[in-house]
Amino acid sequence: MLGMICPLCHQPSIWEGNPWRPFCSERCQMTDLGAWATERYRIPGSTLTMDTSLPDSLEGDDDTEA
Ligand SMILES: [Zn+2]
Repeated sequence: MLGMICPLCHQPSIWEGNPWRPFCSERCQMTDLGAWATERYRIPGSTLTMDTSLPDSLEGDDDTEA
């Protein structure tokens, strides 16, 4: 039986037949993916821009002529 150490929690885990390898469990895999995604979204220099501009069409087209 092939054995390995989970790179995340450093617990002994099996490699063969392990769908979450190189992690020991789905939990560790998801945690690693989450950390990776967090790093990915944390882009230096990028600022969140809130688009507060509303389209003028929201007021409705006033076709009534004075
Ligand atoms: Zn683990």
